[in-house]
Parts: sequence; C-alpha cells; structure tokens
Amino acid sequence: MEDEEKPVASGEIDPLEAEDLAGEETANTTDVAQYNQQISSMNQLELQTPAYQAASVQTSFNEKLGKEVKKIKAPRSTLIHNLIHLNGDKFDFTGRGYLRPIYDCNYPVILLKTGRQVEKSQFNANMIVINSICVPYYKTLYVSPSHMQTRQFSADKVKPIRDQSPLIKNFFINNSVSDQVFEKGYANGSMNYLRSAYLNADRCRGISSDTLCIDEIQDVITANIPVIEEVLSHSKYGYKNYTGTPKTQDNTIEYFWDKSSQCEWLVPCNAHTPTHWNFLDEKSIGVHGPICNQCGRAINPADGKWHALSTKRDIMGFRISQLMVPWKYTSPVKWKELLWKMENWTRAQFYNECLGLAYDSATKPITKTEIMACCHSTQPLITHPSQMKAGQTLFAGIDWGEGTDGSERGMSGKLRVASYTVFTIGFYIGQVFWPIYIRKFEGKETNPEYVLQQIVRACRQFRVQLIGADWGHGWGMNERLEKIFGKNKVVKFIHVSSLKGRRHFDPIGLKMQLSRNQLISEIFTDIRTKKIQFPRWQEFEKYANDLLGVYQEYNEYMRSIKYDHRPDHPDDFLHSLIYAREAANIYYGIGGS
Ligand SMILES: [Zn+2]
Repeated sequence: MEDEEKPVASGEIDPLEAEDLAGEETANTTDVAQYNQQISSMNQLELQTPAYQAASVQTSFNEKLGKEVKKIKAPRSTLIHNLIHLNGDKFDFTGRGYLRPIYDCNYPVILLKTGRQVEKSQFNANMIVINSICVPYYKTLYVSPSHMQTRQFSADKVKPIRDQSPLIKNFFINNSVSDQVFEKGYANGSMNYLRSAYLNADRCRGISSDTLCIDEIQDVITANIPVIEEVLSHSKYGYKNYTGTPKTQDNTIEYFWDKSSQCEWLVPCNAHTPTHWNFLDEKSIGVHGPICNQCGRAINPADGKWHALSTKRDIMGFRISQLMVPWKYTSPVKWKELLWKMENWTRAQFYNECLGLAYDSATKPITKTEIMACCHSTQPLITHPSQMKAGQTLFAGIDWGEGTDGSERGMSGKLRVASYTVFTIGFYIGQVFWPIYIRKFEGKETNPEYVLQQIVRACRQFRVQLIGADWGHGWGMNERLEKIFGKNKVVKFIHVSSLKGRRHFDPIGLKMQLSRNQLISEIFTDIRTKKIQFPRWQEFEKYANDLLGVYQEYNEYMRSIKYDHRPDHPDDFLHSLIYAREAANIYYGIGGS
C-alpha cells in the first residue's frame, strides 16, 4: 500500500487551499477504503481493505469564493502521515499496517481493545485532530474516567500535534482559537472538548458533538455511557470511538467486544499448507520474538491481516496486543522486558496489559444464598397499602431509566444500553430496612408519562414521606414530582467520587451528593448482616438479579473499588433501593455528614 501513496508536501499548500482541505468531499473520500468481507480459507471473515486511493490534488471552482481552489483527496491515514508531525518527523506507519484500516474505514462505532503502550491514545489524538481540520465546524468530545487522565491526554497527545505539525499550526491555529487544556479550537470552526466522567457524566452535559471518544472505557461506570452518548444526538455524523484495556470478563468492554466484529490481527506461518494463521497470545511468545504456535518458527507480525471472528458489524472491534506493535518485537530489550513480565506479573495483569485480553471473572459482592437468606416466605411483595399494617412511615426511591433492554435499537439504528425505571417503597423497623413495594417499568410500561402517573399514584396511596430520585436521568420528571408533592418532599441524588462523608448537600446544584462506593458497599454489607430484609424469593427474584449482576473491580488509577454491571445485567433495583433507604436516612437524620 505504501507505493500507492503520494505524499503531499505541506509546504506547497497556501492558506486558502488548506481551508479547502476541509471540504466535505475530502471528508467523504476518507471512506474510500470501504471494507467488505469474504470467507477466508480459515472460514473466518477477513477484512479486506481495497486498494488505497492515492492522495490527489483536485482543482475546482468555488462559487462562494469566486475563484479556483484546490482540494486534497486522500484516505485519512495518508492525511495523518503527511500532516501530523511529531518530534520533527511525519507520523510513521512503518510496521503499523494494522492501523490503516482502522483509520481509513468510516465505521460508525470503533472499539479498540488494547494492551498498554500500543499507541491507543495517539490513535485518539490523531483521529481527533485530523477530523477537526478536514471538516469545518466538526465537534469532538473526548472523555476519560478522570480529570488527570484527560489533562494528560490534552497535554501529551493533542498539544504536541498542534504545536509540531507545520501545516496544522500555521493554517488551523491562530490567536482567535481556543487553546485551553480542556477546549481546543481550530480556525475552520472545529472544536475539541476534553472532559472526564467517572461516577457521573455531569461534565459532559450540554455538549454537542460529531465524534465521541471514550478512552479507558473499562473504568467508566456503565450507566453513564448512554448519558454521555446523548452528546451525539444532534449530529449528522454521530461517530463513536471507544478505546480501553480489558480487565475481567465481566467488564463492560467485554460486553461491547462480544457485540463487535472481534477483529484479530492474525499472523501467518507459511510453513504449513494451508497457511497457519496465529492468534496472538502467550503461545506465540518465543525466546527471541513472536513464533508460530504450531511449529515454533519465527513469524513476522507485519505480515498479519485483520480477521473478524464474528459476523456482527454494529461495532467494529479491534484487539491490539503488544505482540504486534513494531517497537516491541523488533527491540531485543523490549522483548526481554515482555518475557520478564510474563514470568513475574500476575497472569491477569499480563493478559490485560500486554496481550489486551480479559482474564478471569470479577469478584461479586453478594451471592444468591446471601440474598435468599434475607427473603421472608410469609411476606409477599405489596401492591396496595391495604395489604400492610397501618402506621408505617414510608419512603420511595426512583432510579430513572430509559426503558431499553439492550437489544433494541435507538433512532440511529445503534444498539443501546439496557436501562429501566425502577421504583421502590420501603420503611424501617428498628435498624432494619424493608423494601415492600417494587416496580420495574418494562416493555409497554416504559412511556415516561405512564411511569410518572404510576409513581405519583403509588406515592399518594402509600403516603410516602420523602422521595429520593436519581438526578442524572429523568426527562425533567424530578421537577414535575416537586411540583406535585412540593420541593421538600423530593431529594435529588447524584453520585460523586471525592466526598469526605457519605452524603453531602450541594446548595448550589440543589442536589444531594452521595459517595457511591460507600453506599453500594453498605447495601451489600447490610444484606449480609440482615439489616435489609426482602419479600419472598418467588416475587423478589427478578429484582435480586439486579443485585447479583453487580461486580467489583479495583481501579488502580483511582485507587478505589469500582462497582459496576454489564449493560445486559441491569442494576436499577440496587439504586432505587439505595435512594429509598437514603431518603429514610435523611428523614431520620441518619448517616449525614
Ligand atoms: Zn508454523
């Protein structure tokens, strides 16, 4: 493919032409490498990237400007190679052939599941900058789980491209464009927004974007992903670039991977007939470099090809391991380091960070037996206040959802994450909290007006004292509840990570901040010690599943446990239980800071 590429010397382009680089036609030509698939000899799907269209300069008359202008047409990777300069050199694709199809095909949703140190962040930065200069007024939102990671990405990846690439620096950046850490502008009106979202997606609200990049997606709380994705709702592009390093099999990145094309860079060994294609894992790690997992002969990862191991195409998923990146296998020192890690690291860490593979299952904070031990065979779920003793002081919790089960398709035809509204009413007897009325709005019941009407009716019937609701979602429902019941009857909760106490009122945002980890961990401890009791198992089981789907993983970067769930295992009841009990705690003055 190299010889088909005609480099475009940046010095030959004057400012006016450089702007025209950004013409829509140019943007469209980046999908010249439209992929197709065919069944290969391995009976797997080989991703074919047709002959690369050479970069060319085309002349046309521009009506608006009243003069002849030049446009450069080229695949995105060619533009990246020629326009992005780092440390005085053009961005080099030598030995990185695996990157070109990912850059050049306009897949609506790209997932990169990678090891560490395989230029994942560089990929994001290159895509962000090249899209920004090719399409005027193009908006990109980059999100990582922490402020610090986003700051590093901005300073170490985006800034150097803008500072060191001559054409970009000269023609797309001037004094009038924003050059802040979390906001970078371009002279053609394009913008990059850089934000973080770990326990809540607050910082992403109000942004409208054409491409959404979520980096380190394995550490983002799953329920926040659909909230963040809202930024694409008004875009005619709506591209998603998701990147991360795998952890356990339960992590959300594996859920997305399962739904993806699962493209693997398979490396051939020609000593076999037919050719043997090697899946890169520890069986291909030889003493001096990558080897065939059948005959042990040396193999060259540069000869590899992408094979899609699944027929799914909603998400184009690519795994990039350290075994295929040229600066690892061509350097004897780096290879020794890899061997050392294989010997000395835990198997999980080696799989995740070197091979880009998930390892093992996550720890579950609660077991079915422990939940069943809290269920009372004589206590049914209640549907009406006449079924219970009078005189209880009742509290409600609402986890607003969007009423999707994860298999439906949204407006844009893309898969959505499962999320239902769950409504819980409960009360304290002594120290023990009892949820006695639980309702999950599924199927035909997901209409927001219906949901609100049912919740209002139940709150009235049961004479609920205080309603706790999730601030994040809710289609303005919290405000409507406040109108109906009064502002002092509704508490809006938001999860935050940096909180000294377990609960703190934010007088500016008028919402109650909750220490997410602490409250979730309390719920599980209190189930184990029976400080929470449940109705009989037959009726409670479907809600119990929302507790059993929760897993915990350690997040090294945040130095804390992360509780999460896969999108296909909702945890909505857990949150409505937390909100109901916390509403009761606020009422009784328990556990505040
Ligand atoms: Zn072989």
